Amino acid sequence: MDRRKFIGLMAASGAGFLAASPRIWADGNSVSDALSALFTVPASTDVSGHVVIVGGGMAGATLAKYLRLWGGTGVKVTLVEKSTAYTSNIMSNLVLNGQRVLAGLDYTYSTLTSQYGVTLVNGTVTGINAGMKTVALADGRNVSYDRLVLAPGLEFDLLPGMTSLAEYDTAIPHAWKAGPQTQLLRDQLVAMPAGGNVIVTIPKAPYRCPPGPYERVCIIADWLKANKPGSKVIVLDANADIVVERDNFLLAFNQTHSGIVDYRPNCVLTQVGSSNRSVTYTSNGANIQLSAAVLNPIPPQKAPQLLADAGLLNSPDGRFAAVNVLSYESTIVAGIHIIGDASHTTQPKAGHVANQQAKVCADAIVRLLGGKALDPTPVTNSACYSPITASTATFLSAVYQYDAVTATMKLSKLGASSSTNNEHYRDMQTWFATLMKDSFA
Ligand SMILES: Cc1cc2nc3c(=O)[nH]c(=O)nc-3n(C[C@H](O)[C@H](O)[C@H](O)COP(=O)(O)OP(=O)(O)OC[C@H]3O[C@@H](n4cnc5c(N)ncnc54)[C@H](O)[C@@H]3O)c2cc1C
Repeated sequence: MDRRKFIGLMAASGAGFLAASPRIWADGNSVSDALSALFTVPASTDVSGHVVIVGGGMAGATLAKYLRLWGGTGVKVTLVEKSTAYTSNIMSNLVLNGQRVLAGLDYTYSTLTSQYGVTLVNGTVTGINAGMKTVALADGRNVSYDRLVLAPGLEFDLLPGMTSLAEYDTAIPHAWKAGPQTQLLRDQLVAMPAGGNVIVTIPKAPYRCPPGPYERVCIIADWLKANKPGSKVIVLDANADIVVERDNFLLAFNQTHSGIVDYRPNCVLTQVGSSNRSVTYTSNGANIQLSAAVLNPIPPQKAPQLLADAGLLNSPDGRFAAVNVLSYESTIVAGIHIIGDASHTTQPKAGHVANQQAKVCADAIVRLLGGKALDPTPVTNSACYSPITASTATFLSAVYQYDAVTATMKLSKLGASSSTNNEHYRDMQTWFATLMKDSFA
């Protein structure tokens, strides 16, 4: 299979991951033969090596699968993941209105191991020795690698006035990593009195999933309308304006959820009280204090400490890892690649993008192990659906192409829905199922 054509076609197919015609690869065989060949690990290639991946989320799981599919059995892939299953952040906002349950967002690693021959190590990586080419696990084990890929997602800052991350777990869930905090936020919404307010705070970009906070506000507002008469969502946005899909979200706030969403830009948080669910913020010179029945502060985010300890955080703000987007190799430490939310690129921090970066990285590593040149013109894409109510959604899609002058992925096409409707909501379910299958099965 021509990997470059494969990646390009996946990118060009936009939201429909496997929608590109399988006949393109059939070359005289039956379509089903061609498809099954696409997803079988080839026994013999002239490439060999051991790739260790840290983190089996959207980026790491996809990478493990495609390294085996494109590298063949000679490329040993070890995936180190601290949890036994992955809980999808995507669609987790729909746990808040009761349309989904958390358990329904769980994905295991069984197909990666049984069908693609990935070696799964359940453990937490605590250190990287780039000189010795080893990673250390919390339980004392060490794993050596030829190439290392870090795909650990993000960590969250404490907000002013907070002393412990546990405050997010017990009192003021950010729920920006799907799991127990998502359930806690749902439970708090159900328990709050009608007429009480919900405060959602949004950090300055870049953060994980640019439309995600605005989508969450819509979902909560829609649910409050039906279940908590008189309640409102107050949105304290650190950004000067809605950062993405401005027209769609403005319409949602001002018309669909009119009177329920109170959107306030340019808000700088100065104090957060988890015991009384209060926030103090400044905006245009004024100092304002509010408290709420439910406080959902989405904190600023950064690459995990593991990367800081390894000296990999060299983005302009020092919070993410800059990479060469032809290979996703660190620009300062050779042999270590970073994909997904922990990396610094011009592409958004999104699950769909993490999946795409993983494919470019898999292709690059197979080429590097085989002594070949990197693909000089990678293409990636992103599609994002945002539910606006329990039955309607909008979407945004983007295509990025490598620009040799700036050595960055440059936005080449942008598409956005011109209306919020049921059809987009249905498409969203298909897009999500296809994306997760492509990453985990
Ligand atoms: C509410 C919400 C809605 C979203 N909606 C969308 C959407 O509609 N579309 C979209 O494209 N994106 C969406 N996103 C964003 C998307 O979830 C992330 O961009 C994506 O998950 C990033 O993938 P990742 O692999 O970098 O990190 P993650 O998916 O977070 O995976 C990281 C993995 O690494 C593991 N790990 C971390 N550290 C270690 C360690 N030291 N040792 C071993 N394992 C480790 C973790 O356990 C985890 O499994 C949404 C996010 C949120 C919060």
